[in-house]
Amino acid sequence: MSKRYCYVCRGGVAAGRRIAPDPILNTLLGIKKSLGISRSAGKELVVCRKCLPIYDKMRKTFIRKLAYLGVVALIIFIAQTYIVSIWAGFIFAAFILSFSLIYYAPALESEEPAPARHA
Ligand SMILES: [Zn+2]
Repeated sequence: MSKRYCYVCRGGVAAGRRIAPDPILNTLLGIKKSLGISRSAGKELVVCRKCLPIYDKMRKTFIRKLAYLGVVALIIFIAQTYIVSIWAGFIFAAFILSFSLIYYAPALESEEPAPARHA
């Protein structure tokens, strides 16, 4: 059985570029694992060569949406803080930012040779 799992085509693959761990990804994977619907459990998350162009588009879309939602969230945060309270500002801003998760795409690890993690 393959030890690597492609984030895009959601299948076992022989090789691919490693996905960098991040808090959002860890949380999403943690939720999936606890629900028992994780197919990537115990496997290394990668993007296979075939999926790299698709992944690039996903990642760019996510960055664009995040930048856009960040601006919207900031405006709403300032408005809510001014009109209601700073807590209302935080809640509304977090709510707006949570929309970016629809487009969420984790970053890949850099191309530079990283120190070996599997000893
Ligand atoms: Zn793939």
